[in-house]
Amino acid sequence: MAKKQFKAESKRLMDLMINSIYTHKEIFLREIISNASDAIDKLAYLSLTDDSIQVKSSDLKITVVPDKEKRTLTVSDNGIGMTEEELEKNLGTIARSGSLQFKQEMEKDNAADIIGQFGVGFYSAFMVSDQVTVITRRQGEDSAHCWQSEGADGYTITPCQRSEVGTDVIMHIKEDTEEEQYSQYLDTDHLRELIKKYSDYIRHPIRMTVEEHRMKEKPADAGDDYKPEWETVEEEQTINSMVPLWQRPRSKVTQEEYDRFYEDKFMDWQAPLATITTSSEGTVTFKALLFIPAATPYDFYTREYEKGLQLYSSGVLIMDKCADLLPDCFRFVKGVVDSPDFSLNISREMLQHTRQLKIIATALEKKIKNELLKLLKDDREKYEKFWSAFGRQLKYSVVDQYGAKKDLLKDLLLFQSSRENKLVTLKEYVERMAEGQEYIYYVSAETADQASKLPQVERIADKGYEILYLTEEVDEFVIQALGDVEEKKLKSVSDPDALPETEEEKAQQEQQEEQAKPVLDFVKETLGDKIFAARVSKILKSAPVCMTADGPMTLEMEKYFSKLDNGMPMKAQRVLELNAQSAPYAALKAALDGGDKDKAAKYVQILYHQALLIAGLPIDDPSAYTDLVCSLMN
Ligand code: ADP
Repeated sequence: MAKKQFKAESKRLMDLMINSIYTHKEIFLREIISNASDAIDKLAYLSLTDDSIQVKSSDLKITVVPDKEKRTLTVSDNGIGMTEEELEKNLGTIARSGSLQFKQEMEKDNAADIIGQFGVGFYSAFMVSDQVTVITRRQGEDSAHCWQSEGADGYTITPCQRSEVGTDVIMHIKEDTEEEQYSQYLDTDHLRELIKKYSDYIRHPIRMTVEEHRMKEKPADAGDDYKPEWETVEEEQTINSMVPLWQRPRSKVTQEEYDRFYEDKFMDWQAPLATITTSSEGTVTFKALLFIPAATPYDFYTREYEKGLQLYSSGVLIMDKCADLLPDCFRFVKGVVDSPDFSLNISREMLQHTRQLKIIATALEKKIKNELLKLLKDDREKYEKFWSAFGRQLKYSVVDQYGAKKDLLKDLLLFQSSRENKLVTLKEYVERMAEGQEYIYYVSAETADQASKLPQVERIADKGYEILYLTEEVDEFVIQALGDVEEKKLKSVSDPDALPETEEEKAQQEQQEEQAKPVLDFVKETLGDKIFAARVSKILKSAPVCMTADGPMTLEMEKYFSKLDNGMPMKAQRVLELNAQSAPYAALKAALDGGDKDKAAKYVQILYHQALLIAGLPIDDPSAYTDLVCSLMN
């Protein structure tokens, strides 16, 4: 019998499709099973409107039968089947979708939910088979038809017999090659794995005969010395769990079920910190089940960590880690998104550009933020646990992309506070600001304890103002990215303008600076390039000296950049601030006035080094410094 040729372009397409869209050959099974499931849906749908069709929903099933001897894998369904014409139309033409047409038909009645829009799914069988046979009998017909093809060079359709309505897809599996062990698709254990992996949530039972090892029943007359015996039995089982957890209403699922699901699926040994469910039926229909892990994954801050959510299309897995569904700031979130609006046959490249994906991602971003805000409000302890696991990620995200996400994230930030050594949000800070307090104050140091002891903190703390302690490298960048918060400016305690000044104070300051000029000039001359300037400090209260920086680059930033070691040392403009009211200053001045420049220079060195020490900056020559101190003791 003459072979029929695939429709125009189909040959080329087949080749292209098989080799490019599917990088994982194993997904052919998912495709064939999905078609079977769709066919069952179609029959079930038809039976709703046609009384002559008797469908017992408990009978509907998909069977998977591997046969190692014949090297065939057969997937059968008792769905709607195909007429000869439909066979011709559906399997003779690639890139034409029966499902799509069916869907259009049904949409008029606003019903059925049927996936697959590109019509390339079935042909994926040729990735693993050298011959595919389809035996099918359409609902309402007495005879069946057999479609057979060995690939791109055509197909035949012949009449045949099938006792019941439905379809068998019989795939003759290719011989093993060096690159590919095709025989694995005849192995029950492997097939079971594939079904669990890709088709676990198909709505109809997928049945397969599997070998079970189990203990034989103990005979009634067994004596005390009876030893349990094992037996191997063959048994047809339903392999898939059928109803996805995320399709069930939240009120019907226990937290234990969610926890177990999370632990199994995302391989965590700890229950998640929070479970988020959401769904939408707008422009894009989807359901999402998301989790926030309780601890930072060990590889979270490394290149190895891959963000993403599992993407399903009506219970069928399309992508394991769909990165585009999650904004970077929430890359710690794990979970599942299921949307019938995605085609099964969509490739990774195409997926990246779909509009639906963006819509879902935007909705999820909002949802995750709101859930975190809720947690912050309702369960502070839990939120702080979350913060210790992933706070750093949020801070980095505020800085990232020139602050593009700062408005989204600012309410989620926590900072260490001078108040009872607790964590505080910016909103809380602003709400409890003291009367007359104009700014949100912060200071940077290695630890909160060190921060509290910095000389420049004193005058702000003495006013009773709360101070944020920035103890992480990224913090100052966060502050810079944030700009104003709740209409308040963020101010470093080292900023000379950190406290408002009266006219009188200003005049006094000017006068002091004038008087101090010879001392300051001497300090600058002695230290040379080591500092940008020497100044009479406005920010010191009792301490004699401290180091600050002019310009946008702070000392903390300098420290951060010096660690990056990228060959470009970034230096802050260091300013040595002296307290003109302090005893050491008086000593320095006295030495200068007395004409003992040598002694004065030594004092300058000591003050400079003290400022470095307090600021946590490295000392160029520690032994020279200790020698200097010791020489003064002689
Ligand atoms: P898609 O499923 O994306 O439409 P396929 O190439 O997988 O594309 O299938 C083409 C068409 O063949 C389907 O739309 C469907 O009409 C028909 N078909 C495939 N498998 C079956 C089956 N098991 N039972 C009935 N019809 C089927």
